[in-house]
Amino acid sequence: MSARWRLALLSAALTYVGPAASDVVHIKAARVLDVVSGDMLTNHVIRVVDDRVESISPAPQTRLENLLDLGDVTVLPGLIDAHVHLIGDADAQGYGNLAASVPRNTLFGVKNARETLAAGFTAVRNVGAGSFADVALRDAIDAGDVPGPRMRVSGPSVGITGGHCDNNLLPPEAGQFSEGVADGAAEIIKVLRRNKKYGTDLVKFCATGGVLSKGTAIGDQQYTDSEMKALVDESHRRGIKVAAHAHGTQGIIAAIKAGVDSVEHASLIDDEGIRLAVEYGTTLVMDIFVSDYILQGGEAAGFLPESLEKERMVGAAQRDGFRRAHAAGANIAFGTDAGVFPHGKNAQQFSYMVKYGMTELEAIQAATVKGAELLGMDGVGALSPGAYADLIAVKGDPLQDIRTLESPVFVMKGGEIYRSELDQ
Ligand SMILES: [Zn+2]
Repeated sequence: MSARWRLALLSAALTYVGPAASDVVHIKAARVLDVVSGDMLTNHVIRVVDDRVESISPAPQTRLENLLDLGDVTVLPGLIDAHVHLIGDADAQGYGNLAASVPRNTLFGVKNARETLAAGFTAVRNVGAGSFADVALRDAIDAGDVPGPRMRVSGPSVGITGGHCDNNLLPPEAGQFSEGVADGAAEIIKVLRRNKKYGTDLVKFCATGGVLSKGTAIGDQQYTDSEMKALVDESHRRGIKVAAHAHGTQGIIAAIKAGVDSVEHASLIDDEGIRLAVEYGTTLVMDIFVSDYILQGGEAAGFLPESLEKERMVGAAQRDGFRRAHAAGANIAFGTDAGVFPHGKNAQQFSYMVKYGMTELEAIQAATVKGAELLGMDGVGALSPGAYADLIAVKGDPLQDIRTLESPVFVMKGGEIYRSELDQ
């Protein structure tokens, strides 16, 4: 049976339904990883009441009611991917993604959300979606209508006319502009307010050109310094965080100086950019796995030839930048750009983060503690009393073999089971 069908059956038949009076379940595991301290607790029980963790304690000798013994696994908090694109079809890139309607792309989002959750990611930050499809998906998940991770969403990405956050694929007579296109401070502020009006949580904007857009040079800074400042000031004035897409060296520096909360990709970050990121406390979200996917599977998925060419320029540099940024003590959160590659493969990035300098624990913290901080979401990213019962279990020990995270055998979100492949 394919994983997809197995999950569909699971969500139909095995969504956790607790006892009527009080929804209590005790989850027992050989190992529970405290991601904050790095301590591996052995033979512990997590008591879940309704959607929350009530306590984590050594397994008692006495018999527990509603015991779910997961056996020889490691339990850790649900993972967080701070850079995903759930809306749309990952297999239709470049001109291929012009054909799908907003409703069709949103329904791809339903499938993608389910696959992301099944892969152990219980919270995500969705950075860029047209027509507020991400707001709708977030709300449908929160209402329990469809399974998926908790979402923080940006709505339409903000960017200059003809920039990376515009759509440049069609000729002028088609008259196409992406919804978040804004030039000058006044237009930027208007777009930010419109996004907020329709329910977004954060702002995503394009500070430089990008790999996957037509006719943009990666190194080019797109907004001026003063436009970026106006964007960040208006967002922060209203308590909204800002994520800046930036590949080029100068655009990265300009975005950090403007006060953004995170720099996405940060491909050509230099030592000055790293120094500033540390000084300003800017989080870097460096998607160092996706490059291999684009270069190996990109042609079949429909990426433009110029995108493949640009990826060849930045992939290796980005990994080197990741190593240097981590060594310098920069704040790094786990983010993959899933949606450029098929959803559910997010955890394949962990081994890259370890290869390029992180310890296994640091890589896990990037996808838990650091992710929760960046999303500004309470009750996720660590298992402690009062936190959401968002947890996963993997065979083996992820501190010894980070790739165990690629195939979780158990996924719970808010006290409900979404995946269970345990030997019973
Ligand atoms: Zn992206």
